[in-house]
Amino acid sequence: MNCPRPGHPADNPARMGRPTDIDRLYGLEPVLELGEDAGSDALEQFADISCPYCGEDIQIRLDLSAGDQSYVEDCQVCCQPIQVGVQVGAGGELETVAAERVDR
Ligand SMILES: [Zn+2]
Repeated sequence: MNCPRPGHPADNPARMGRPTDIDRLYGLEPVLELGEDAGSDALEQFADISCPYCGEDIQIRLDLSAGDQSYVEDCQVCCQPIQVGVQVGAGGELETVAAERVDR
């Protein structure tokens, strides 16, 4: 033992750190590459809304370059038509997303 002091827990970080680092390296690299490719289109983003019919949280994709918009999107869970209202701020940022039932 080179370091007999109990205040140096050199063994544990060395043993546990190696597999974790390798895991992170292999896990993150492809994800980052994909993220950079997809992230080049910054005007598209995802938003979570609650379905007004079944109450499930669903994720929708927004195209903020189109500005304020209102359209109907089918719920991914119960397939009911949801009226989605999107408001975009002056800087092109997402302000509000509203999800309402479609009046028939
Ligand atoms: Zn639903």
